[in-house]
Amino acid sequence: MNIISWLEGLRVRYILSRHPIEHALWKAVVNKAGLLHDLSSVEKAHLRELATLFLHQKAITGVRGLEVTDEMAVAIAAQAVLPVLKLGLEYYTGWVEVIVYPGAFRVSHEASDPNGLVSSEAHDLSGESWLRGPVILSWEDVAHDLEGLHPGHNVVIHEFAHKLDMLNGRANGMPPLHPNMEIEQWTQALSTAFDILQQNVAHQYPTRINAYAATNPAEYFAVISEYFFTAPDILSQHCPDVYLQLTQFYRQDPLRRRGPKNMSAQPAP
Ligand SMILES: [Zn+2]
Repeated sequence: MNIISWLEGLRVRYILSRHPIEHALWKAVVNKAGLLHDLSSVEKAHLRELATLFLHQKAITGVRGLEVTDEMAVAIAAQAVLPVLKLGLEYYTGWVEVIVYPGAFRVSHEASDPNGLVSSEAHDLSGESWLRGPVILSWEDVAHDLEGLHPGHNVVIHEFAHKLDMLNGRANGMPPLHPNMEIEQWTQALSTAFDILQQNVAHQYPTRINAYAATNPAEYFAVISEYFFTAPDILSQHCPDVYLQLTQFYRQDPLRRRGPKNMSAQPAP
């Protein structure tokens, strides 16, 4: 171990021992967040450590008059670190800010057509992730996800999945895979499922995976990550190859964790 990682280890232990998330607050958030109910007590303890460090590393800032309470910050942190529970917080390095709007926020992005005509389109968003920049969330949407488990929907998981995707420099639906994973298998599984979804959406056939996933490969990865953590039964049933690839990337198996109880009975919107 070199001196820098030794010092970093000391710093981490200091934060965890001196500034842990207060027990009652942590318990209140975990009890509320349906997303976290299936975790074992060991996993919850590890999640609490990661959430504690996350709160030290990131600035969670309310805008448009929103005051971010400790409970709100912990609720965001606890869900944000679930995707990296088995990967580590270093997967979230290179940026520091989480900006929270009271509700959906309007953004306008400029796009130019092949003739050079620049147009500006405005959209209402519940979340947004910037390359090497902030994660932006609508508290109204985060709070809605906290109220119960909505199969296929979790704005925090969605935006932080984008962050993982962007780790190799752009959002293209492929985060940096682990050495034991095959790029070909990943591409085959995800692009086949993505193409089928796109065709079904184009023909206006009903789809079990939210049609928004057909927007582009980056949105596909973010949306299937939402299913992976909130509705693993739906994802594994409809896209088993995709589910398998995500178990390898996230190093988690939410379906096994869930067990036979609480299978989502509702179709995803
Ligand atoms: Zn997205």
